[in-house]
Amino acid sequence: MKLGSLDISIVSGGRFWIDGGGMFGVVPRVMWERVFPPDEYHRIPQETNCVLVRDGDRNILIDTGYGSKLSDKQRKNFSAQDGEPLVENLAAQGLTREDIDVVIFSHLHFDHAGGATRLDEDSEIVLAFPNAELVAQRREWVDATAGYPELRAAYPQENLLPLRDCGQLRLIDGDVEIVPGIRSQVTGGHTDGHQVLIIESKGESAVFLGDICSTSRHLPVLWCLGYDVHMQQTRRAKAKVLEQIVQTNAIAVFDHDPDIGAARLCRDDRRDFAIEDDLGFL
Ligand SMILES: [Zn+2]
Repeated sequence: MKLGSLDISIVSGGRFWIDGGGMFGVVPRVMWERVFPPDEYHRIPQETNCVLVRDGDRNILIDTGYGSKLSDKQRKNFSAQDGEPLVENLAAQGLTREDIDVVIFSHLHFDHAGGATRLDEDSEIVLAFPNAELVAQRREWVDATAGYPELRAAYPQENLLPLRDCGQLRLIDGDVEIVPGIRSQVTGGHTDGHQVLIIESKGESAVFLGDICSTSRHLPVLWCLGYDVHMQQTRRAKAKVLEQIVQTNAIAVFDHDPDIGAARLCRDDRRDFAIEDDLGFL
């Protein structure tokens, strides 16, 4: 769809299934299963909604999904889509891997950064978007590459070392305009370096929420992920960002929602915030 003078669309980086308890942290199952019924393995479907922004000059991608390098075991456990879903879905929009000029990461967990690299014909890990500048928060990068054993599964180094070594990585500090019309707002919470991305043009705006509010079912401010590094910080940041979205009538983009990729929001007495206008997948 048009957002001011920009074109924005949601491009799937692939669907996967993950334990519902992990996606709702301390929220009792009897509450979350009403809005997100799990399968027989207690899993719920998750999208990896990435955003493509075209300004007529450049093609900018926000997040990259889990990519195509998952092991057979991971692929089976997550029932992850085969092939290279992001690349295939970009092709449906008329774009090749070479056409992407900038990739911005909300954070560097495997389901957001894994798609930035791929295996070539010789099974070497290479950049999936060879011409793209790669933009991440410095704080996120430092944590992701520090080698903390407890974060090993969240940040497979095979996703990150090729980014470090390619000379195309730009690390940013705090809230900055990354490219004209797209700026970062650091939230912390999910990870210390987690950021949401605000896309603005001619008085219209959209906010890519990353994992500060992963799906439309996470709109109640207290409902956050078991994976959050700082749960209370996520709650505080989410309340602030969602209020900002309502006040500015911005479009909210949910990174993991399998049904509602984007929506306009309103305040809600019972669930804090609610969907006012379902925009599907733009
Ligand atoms: Zn995620």
